[in-house]
Amino acid sequence: MADGSGAAGGAETICAVATPPGQGGIGVVRLSGPAAAALAAAVAGPLPAPRYAALRRFRDAAGEAIDEGLVLYFPGPHSLTGEDVVELQGHGGPVVLDRLLQRLLALGARLARPGEFSERAFLNGRMDLSRAEAVADLIAARSEAAARAAMRSLQGELAGQVHALTDALAEERVQLEARIDFADEPLEGLSHDPLPDRLAALAERLAATRAAAGRGQLLREGLTVVIAGRPNAGKSSLLNRLAQRDAAIVTEIAGTTRDVIDEHLHIDGLPLRVLDTAGLRPAGDAVEREGVRRAQAAMAQADRLLLVVDDRDPAEAVARLRTELPARPTTLVRNKCDLSGHPAGPADEDGFRVSALTGAGMDELRAHLRSVMGADGEVGTFTARRRHLEALDTAGEALAEAQAAAEAGAGEELVAESLRMAQQRLGEITGEVTTEDLLGRIFASFCIGK
Ligand code: GDP
Repeated sequence: MADGSGAAGGAETICAVATPPGQGGIGVVRLSGPAAAALAAAVAGPLPAPRYAALRRFRDAAGEAIDEGLVLYFPGPHSLTGEDVVELQGHGGPVVLDRLLQRLLALGARLARPGEFSERAFLNGRMDLSRAEAVADLIAARSEAAARAAMRSLQGELAGQVHALTDALAEERVQLEARIDFADEPLEGLSHDPLPDRLAALAERLAATRAAAGRGQLLREGLTVVIAGRPNAGKSSLLNRLAQRDAAIVTEIAGTTRDVIDEHLHIDGLPLRVLDTAGLRPAGDAVEREGVRRAQAAMAQADRLLLVVDDRDPAEAVARLRTELPARPTTLVRNKCDLSGHPAGPADEDGFRVSALTGAGMDELRAHLRSVMGADGEVGTFTARRRHLEALDTAGEALAEAQAAAEAGAGEELVAESLRMAQQRLGEITGEVTTEDLLGRIFASFCIGK
C-alpha cells in the first residue's frame, strides 16, 4: 500500500505543492495516482466522503502533528487527472509544506514533474491538449483580456473550432474515398458541388480560425515594440509615458540607456512588450558597443519599431536614421513638439508628433498602437500559442496542395492524401495526434503542482 506504485496500470502516485512558493494563508499539497487515498489516510487519518471537506491533523511518522487543515478527496475518474486525487490544504508556510511533502515521499509518493498533473489529465482524456495549455495560460495571464481569453480556450473555444474543421476535412475525405472506391456506381448522399469549390470553402474556414488564433496569440504574448533612436531623442521619456511610471532612467547625458530595458505594458488590457534600447550611435567604449549590439538584435525581432527623433531634426538626418534600421514595420515618433512648436498628433503618413515631456499627442500614439495590435476591430477571443499557429499554417499548406491538385485535375487519391495531412496537423492542436516528444515539451513548460 505504502509504495506509491499502485497496481492499476502501474502508474506512480505523484505529489506536489500546488500553491505558489512563499508564505500564504493556505498551502495545498496535491496527490494523484492509485495510492493517493492510502497515502493521504496514512498522514491525515480516515478520508472524508468524496468531494466533502474534513478538518484533520497531518502527522509525521512518529505521530507528531505537522499541521492541521482540510482534506478533500476526489476519486477517479471524476477528478482533475482522472485518477484518485487528494488535496491536503494546510497552512502556507514553506517549512510546513516541505515537511508534509517529505512525509508523502517517505511513504512512497514521487515528486511531480512540472505540468505532470495536467499531463495526466490529458492522457486520461479529462482535457484536450489546447485546454491543458489554457490552464497554464490562465495562471500566467498578465492582463485581464488575456485571462478572459485563456478562460475561453479552457472552455474549449479553440478546440471546438479545430474539431469542426477536422470533421469537415474527414467528411471530405470520406466523399473522396467513396468516389475512388465506387467510381462506377451512382452514389447517394454525396455533395454535388464541384471539388475545388468545396475545398475553397474549407480553406476559407481554416483561414478564419488561423486569423482568430493569431489574434489570440498576440493577446497571450503581446506585441514586441522596440523604441529606437539617437541618444537624447527622448526614448526613455516616451517609455515612461507609455508605462506611466518611471521605469527607465531619464537623464540629459547622452548614452545613458546602455542596456535593453524590457517593460510589459497594457494598453486597454492588451499586452505590449516594449524594449527601450541603447541609443543608435557610433559606440564609444566596450559597454556601449555591447548595448548597441543588443539593440540591433532586439530591433531585428521586433513586431514594430518606434523610431524616436527630435521634431527639430533635419529631414535628411531622419531619412538617414531610417536606413540604419532593420526592415521592420516602423512608426516614426517626432518627439519634443513642445520645442519645435508644431501641433501634436498624426504627422506624415507613418508618423506622430508628441511631447513625452508634456504628454501631448500620447493619446493618439496609444490609439495607433492599439490599432496596429489588431485591437481596434476584433480582439482575440481565445488564447493560442505559436505551436497552434504553426499547426494551422501547415494544415493550410496541405489544404492548398489539395486545392492545387484538384484544380490541376490530379487524381482524387492525391487530393485525399493532402487532406489527410491537413487533418493530422490540426489533430496536433487538440492532442489527437501527438508525439511523446511534443507532449514532453509542452508540459515541461508548466509549473510544478499543475
Ligand atoms: P533618450 O536618451 O532617448 O532615452 O532620451 P531621454 O528620455 O533620456 O531624454 C533626453 C532629454 O530630453 C531629457 O532631458 C528629457 O527630459 C528631455 N525630453 C524628452 N522628451 C522631451 C519632450 O518631449 N520635450 C522636451 N522639451 N524635452 C524632452
